[in-house]
Amino acid sequence: MSVMELVRDNIRALEPYRCARDDFKGTAEVFLDANESWKEYVGDEGINRYPDPRSEKLVAKAVEVLGLPEGHVAAGSGSDELIDLLIRIFCTPGKDCILLLPPTYGAYKVFASINDVKIEKVLLKDDFSLDEEAIKTALDRYSPKLLFICSPNNPTGNSMDPEAIRRIAEYNRGITIVDEAYQDFSEKASAVSIVHGNERVVVLRTLSKAWGLAGARIGFAIASEEVIGLIRNVKYPYNLGLPSQSEGIKALSQAAAVRAEVSNTVKERERVAGILSSSYDVIPSDANFLLVRIPEAERVYETLKQKGIITRLRSHEPKCQDGIRITIGSKAENDRLLAALEEISGGR
Ligand SMILES: *Cc1c(COP(=O)(O)O)cnc(C)c1O
Repeated sequence: MSVMELVRDNIRALEPYRCARDDFKGTAEVFLDANESWKEYVGDEGINRYPDPRSEKLVAKAVEVLGLPEGHVAAGSGSDELIDLLIRIFCTPGKDCILLLPPTYGAYKVFASINDVKIEKVLLKDDFSLDEEAIKTALDRYSPKLLFICSPNNPTGNSMDPEAIRRIAEYNRGITIVDEAYQDFSEKASAVSIVHGNERVVVLRTLSKAWGLAGARIGFAIASEEVIGLIRNVKYPYNLGLPSQSEGIKALSQAAAVRAEVSNTVKERERVAGILSSSYDVIPSDANFLLVRIPEAERVYETLKQKGIITRLRSHEPKCQDGIRITIGSKAENDRLLAALEEISGGR
């Protein structure tokens, strides 16, 4: 099926909003077209003007630094905005469904529910890999508009087999979304290369994790020109503020420094995993967190909290019995966590 056949009828028919700067492109000296303030009374240079609707400089920097295909990238206010947009572009409320592969990122389900879009599920296997046969069966049975594959997966940390992703995306007649929020921490192949041969594949990236910009809200969708065009038409015209666009460009310009930090985090992850695995079952991670099975997880989580250490209790997620998700912090923070866990298990 073509992308346009999958789109909601009202979105296919949409006459997109045109902002002042869409109607005038070029150079001029006097801008009296957008009801802006004529100067910046407060804040940084240029803040009185509406930002670039397409975040073009930021996107160009991301294309260069992250090695993304030019013309196939759209920026979002975090990848969360892009997840919500994709649901709104393709899923008719009260009618269509999406397919999720739990245990996975919780926002997919919430955004679908907000949009009155149904959820179908196929669990990951016991080792948290993709259950290809079950996924294909569910694709046939439910014809979901969207399939979300998270790789490396949150909250388990493992990457999915890139060849399995390719096969599933090929089989899927709907849209396959590969959420690569943690790809920067992984050595495994990205799904970006699949985008070229398959107009129904969307890869999501974010600057919130490895790039240290969770506060700036910057995400990217990498997809066919059709999907990128739809995202541009449906998003808020000015979805990224000027400060966010500038922070993003600044971070991407310091790629070497950021990559050194990422490699330290990966080393720290392996150190912490090594220590924890002498007492607990630690799921091998390609991300900046570990899913650790700790007996009496709920009690341990509460005790850690009392000690001022906040982790994420995931024990109620499918196949995550006793699971606590622990983000890799500074060496000092990680050592505090390890000492607290030692105390808790010693005091049992
Ligand atoms: C954190 C996270 C996101 C959201 O990232 P933002 O860009 O901050 O919105 C998306 N997907 C997964 C799997 C995440 O863990």
